[in-house]
Amino acid sequence: MVTNRLLILDDEAAIGTLVATVARKVGYEAEATTDFGSFREAFDRIEPTHVVLDLQLPDTDGVEVLSYLTARGANVRVLLMSGFDARVLDMVGQVARDRGFDVIATCRKPLRVPELRDILRRNAHEQPLALEPEALDQALDEGQIFVNFQPQCRLSDGVIVGFEALARWRHPDLDLIAPDKFIPLAERSGRIARLTHYVFDQATDAAVRFAACSPNCGVAVNVSPLDLSDPHLADKFAQVCRDKGVAPDKVTLEMTESAAMSDPVSAKEALVRLRLKGFRLSLDDFGTGYSSLVLLRQMPLSELKIDRSFVTDCTTSHDSEAIMEAVVAMAHALGLSVVAEGVETQEVLGRLAQADADLAQGYLMSRPVGLDEACRMLTGSGQMAQIS
Ligand code: C2E
Ligand code: CA
Ligand code: CA
Repeated sequence: MVTNRLLILDDEAAIGTLVATVARKVGYEAEATTDFGSFREAFDRIEPTHVVLDLQLPDTDGVEVLSYLTARGANVRVLLMSGFDARVLDMVGQVARDRGFDVIATCRKPLRVPELRDILRRNAHEQPLALEPEALDQALDEGQIFVNFQPQCRLSDGVIVGFEALARWRHPDLDLIAPDKFIPLAERSGRIARLTHYVFDQATDAAVRFAACSPNCGVAVNVSPLDLSDPHLADKFAQVCRDKGVAPDKVTLEMTESAAMSDPVSAKEALVRLRLKGFRLSLDDFGTGYSSLVLLRQMPLSELKIDRSFVTDCTTSHDSEAIMEAVVAMAHALGLSVVAEGVETQEVLGRLAQADADLAQGYLMSRPVGLDEACRMLTGSGQMAQIS
């Protein structure tokens, strides 16, 4: 069993005590220190797995502590907190990530206990998953991998215009495994192409059923950067669509910026061929990569998906709101449609409609659901009550 050991550095003793108490309640061993000297002493003694760091201290600051941790070769998860404005906090978060730390959260003071508890609970080290790449072959052979569908709704009238296909793995011993865990495993072990084609097959089967309920309903499939190195990708996808009578323009392929960056020449060819075959291309997680603007000009895109982080914060952070609005305006000027993902509140939805985004996707409308449930949504009013 992995023990989670948390070390806190905050000159306000009361806050250190509060964090330690919350951490112990969710199963951590925890110790609080109030100055850099005692922090270093405790660090050697308990060898923490997690560090909670106040950025402003009388004898040092958060960046100096991070460089100390780097010098120590510390492999710790870091939670940063400060009363300073969000931008400074985000900036120090970037510094920590650039130094290779896993930053689990950046929290503005005053801390909210339920939020802190959730963060700590979520980021405790779990028992390492005993997942062998070979298990993926078996999972695909035996149908342990399945696909859920999350609706995408038009903001102007709430009509469902498509579903994103999202892979799930129901492992016989480990229960449900999230794609964030098994997609990287598939990518590392040379199995991603098989998985992509499996999901594409399920998604195009679903598209046939969706079209029977609502002729214009589309489906979106996530494509890994590695898939784009297959020179026959576009032909394979087009063949599947021909066999099933699915119009390629009802299929959107979602990829992140890293997809186009991985091997620019072959990726560019793959992308343009997919477009020539009639597929729609969507740039996923937009705003989290580095080369967005150059890529926007180069990639034959149909759509941008604004990353969840900007969407979630657009009613609470002026910066996120400004970025969200600017992305919508820029995408429209380039003739692209805009999907906002991660819509969880009515307030965010209203803000997106004001900013003139085209489509919304998120837990507010629906979590990803099985195919039958997705079809029921379409045959109902085909409209999500939250929007209309
Ligand atoms: P993604 O493509 O950005 O997919 C959206 C993720 O956000 C999904 O998580 C979805 O369940 C979640 N989500 C949707 N609405 C909300 C919301 O309102 N709030 C919050 N907090 N989350 C929301 P999921 O299904 O766990 O997928 C995670 C990632 O795994 C996906 O991110 C995608 O990158 C990858 N993935 C999933 N299926 C596939 C696949 O078939 N192929 C590939 N290559 N990647 C996949
Ligand atoms: Ca996606
Ligand atoms: Ca995304």
